[in-house]
Amino acid sequence: MPCRRPVRALVFAGTLTFGPLALASAAQAAGPAAKPTPPKAGAIPSKNKEAAVASVERQRPELIGLADQIWAFAETALKETRSAKVLADYAESQGFKVERGVAGMPTAFVASYGEGRPVIAILGEYDALPGISQKAQPAKEPLLAGAPGHGCGHNLFGAASLGAAVALKELVAAGKLQGTIRFYGTPAEEAVGGKTYMIREGLFRDVDVALAWHPNDETRADTKSTQAMVDLSVEFHGKTAHAAFDPWNGRSALDGAELFLHSVNLLREHVRPSVRMHYVVPDGGDVPNVVPDHARVWLWLRDSKHVSVEELLARVRQMAQGSALAAGVEGTVKVQAGSYEMLVNRAGERLLQANMEWLGPIAYTPEEVAFAKAVQKASGVPEKGLDGSIQPLNESPGEPEGGSTDVADVSWNVPVLHVSVTTAALGAPWHAWPVAACGGMSIGHKGMAFAAKTLAATMVDLFESPAKRAEIQKEFAANTQGFTYKGYIPDGPPPLPKE
Ligand SMILES: [Zn+2]
Repeated sequence: MPCRRPVRALVFAGTLTFGPLALASAAQAAGPAAKPTPPKAGAIPSKNKEAAVASVERQRPELIGLADQIWAFAETALKETRSAKVLADYAESQGFKVERGVAGMPTAFVASYGEGRPVIAILGEYDALPGISQKAQPAKEPLLAGAPGHGCGHNLFGAASLGAAVALKELVAAGKLQGTIRFYGTPAEEAVGGKTYMIREGLFRDVDVALAWHPNDETRADTKSTQAMVDLSVEFHGKTAHAAFDPWNGRSALDGAELFLHSVNLLREHVRPSVRMHYVVPDGGDVPNVVPDHARVWLWLRDSKHVSVEELLARVRQMAQGSALAAGVEGTVKVQAGSYEMLVNRAGERLLQANMEWLGPIAYTPEEVAFAKAVQKASGVPEKGLDGSIQPLNESPGEPEGGSTDVADVSWNVPVLHVSVTTAALGAPWHAWPVAACGGMSIGHKGMAFAAKTLAATMVDLFESPAKRAEIQKEFAANTQGFTYKGYIPDGPPPLPKE
């Protein structure tokens, strides 16, 4: 499933803030480490927090190395062999116990350090998207024509999350914090939904709180949910015949598919505006002079709540049956994958917000701003540069915008705290070359470091404050009362690529 596209809230013009922390970030970019900045109002003051942020800064060269390697590997869903390996190897080198190949996926792993409660988890992704290979330059040019590329910034996602986990591990190792820190290497976010299989395996069962982030063109605590979706394969099977000599002996599977899609398009009038239905037809038969005995539609249904998606699914099943009946063929609907909507944890988002404000905005060099503007010019969007400011907490976020993620499935199993961090030029298209370009150079690296610090600081709060954990868990329990999670995946093992 595709990850969330950036959700745009308020866009402030000229948001390149140059406060004390901004200068610190600029200095860090140049090399020398900055002094920790005194906490601002809102964040819980803590020496451990400052140590965790300093650890991320110390790890900066390693994290950039990991992110750049994964960026260059650009491996797609369930083929992320080298990407998963460099992350798992780094975790192991830092003293984590690493279990590789979990939940039936060779590229999924769990790295743990410490023992007992609390168990604080952090999620990392590392899969790329097909066909968008791109050099780290502000003009569209593939590294390797037709190859995959990191058009969603997942090379930064995995490295930042692991950097934060290592920062916390150091505090646990030093006896400053007690409990377990766990990094989840979660493959195949862009397709399949690796986390859904990891949930089914029970890997999150003992987690108290989980954290995640996502690259974006803005920086904010995510109070807005994401869309729920199901990914369906709708197949029709008929009877072949010569299309001119004896077509009356044939039953066209393509007729079934066409009737079905016509009914999907009629259904659009009778669904809520928040519904999205999109499809392709990967199989409509082979040649015109043979009545097709096989046809397949690949359809995604989305809405802001999984309950609504399930209602749509029930209707679509009936439509497939009706279409098959009309065409005299067999029709089947198979749920291949899917995601729930994100269950937002307000208490957790407030904590993230306080820590982001404590860290202060991300600052950019004139060269980085020029890079972003060149990307924007080439993409035909306004040349606004970069927005490293921290958006105010959005208390009335409204309906989710288009896009889904399997992080949302985790959020119905354990409380998930989620932020978006700027790693790309403002307004430039996502799942496209501009994101890959920025994610392979210092703009992406700065976002990665900021995300790691935000997550590390917030995890320190979670380790240090049983009251904060309790508040987050209480909200989660209230929102999931009487609810049983069932992932939108077929029975059996994950669909590993055949090669
Ligand atoms: Zn993504």
